[in-house]
Amino acid sequence: MSFRFETRAIHTGSEPDPQTGAVIPPIYATSTYAQEAPGVHKGYDYSRADNPTRQRLERALADLENAQYCVTFASGVAATAAILTLLEPGDRVLSGDDTYGGTYRLFEQVYRKYGLEFCYVDTSDLEAVRSHLRDPTDTKLLWIETPTNPRMKITDLRGIAELKGDALLAVDNTFASPYLQRPLELGADLVLHSSTKYLGGHSDLIGGAVMTNDPELHERLKFIQKSVGAVPSPFDCFLVHRGIKTLAVRMRTHCANARRVAQFLEEHPAVERVYYPGLETHPGHEVAKRQMDDFGGMVSFEIRGGLPEATAFLQKLRVFTLAESLGGVESLANHPATMTHASIPPEERARRGIRDSLIRLSVGLEHPDDLVEDLEQALEAV
Ligand SMILES: *Cc1c(COP(=O)(O)O)cnc(C)c1O
Repeated sequence: MSFRFETRAIHTGSEPDPQTGAVIPPIYATSTYAQEAPGVHKGYDYSRADNPTRQRLERALADLENAQYCVTFASGVAATAAILTLLEPGDRVLSGDDTYGGTYRLFEQVYRKYGLEFCYVDTSDLEAVRSHLRDPTDTKLLWIETPTNPRMKITDLRGIAELKGDALLAVDNTFASPYLQRPLELGADLVLHSSTKYLGGHSDLIGGAVMTNDPELHERLKFIQKSVGAVPSPFDCFLVHRGIKTLAVRMRTHCANARRVAQFLEEHPAVERVYYPGLETHPGHEVAKRQMDDFGGMVSFEIRGGLPEATAFLQKLRVFTLAESLGGVESLANHPATMTHASIPPEERARRGIRDSLIRLSVGLEHPDDLVEDLEQALEAV
């Protein structure tokens, strides 16, 4: 019998503790495990290598992406770094040109010096990707975010999977969450999450995860997890696991509230442009409708004016908190140019269309009327 998403999110990996019957299994806060004889133990020898709390979470997260395997990390960027260690010096990575700022920093300022080559292309344009992939042996990894951070561009994952040849296709699925989009079903080899965001859902932890159906990739990532050691603590694993039990209900409200906010902003005279894939005017709307079950909780927009107007608006908000990050129950507002994407050099930012007037909202679970009224009063004040 195969269960539906909501049921699996609550039960996979959360079976009652066999020893005590505790409905919520204990947090195994232990670094090491007693052995009966040298090398004879119950499957655990040291918590960097494995831990029961982490294992239960990995089983649950794999199930949500309909994956065979999941390997968790101490952060989303640690998970990204683990994927990069699958490559060899000289290998080429073709990345979307509108990714999380920390991903760009990791590529350019950490891994480039180890001989990896990074190229950037607007992956929402399949023709542009095709022209970069002319020699199929030349690109080893395709790095895709969809929707992108912060411009909310949509990439056709099936289309990319058909083009990719022998390259590995890795998809950062943080913005959509597995409730809305499952890239492995669309042809991806690897899915990455910053579980800091929607999976955890409460802005109280940092974590990352990689899912795959390929046993060899899984073995290699498991080896990196243990050998490099960027592992999540048992307590953080417990928090992510608790978070995903409500992922479905949270995502439904995130989507409904974001739709309300996007529609409100689209009508407002102080707003120049709204980026939300749920709007029919969004260039990726049709692709998003095909590959996502709904359009998510992230909305970006350009305020009329520039830095002074954006700053004044952000300081007037009362329900939205001015902060980096996203995906929590509380609504957050972010100014990409000076906050999350400040590590991207100004010329590159301009090329990516991250202007000073761009504002990114993580629409939370407050009452939608309060969210709209808050945005309205802040826009009026500018
Ligand atoms: C936050 C984020 C990351 C990085 O994750 P951390 O948990 O902060 O290390 C990667 N990708 C996207 C899309 C993100 O939003």
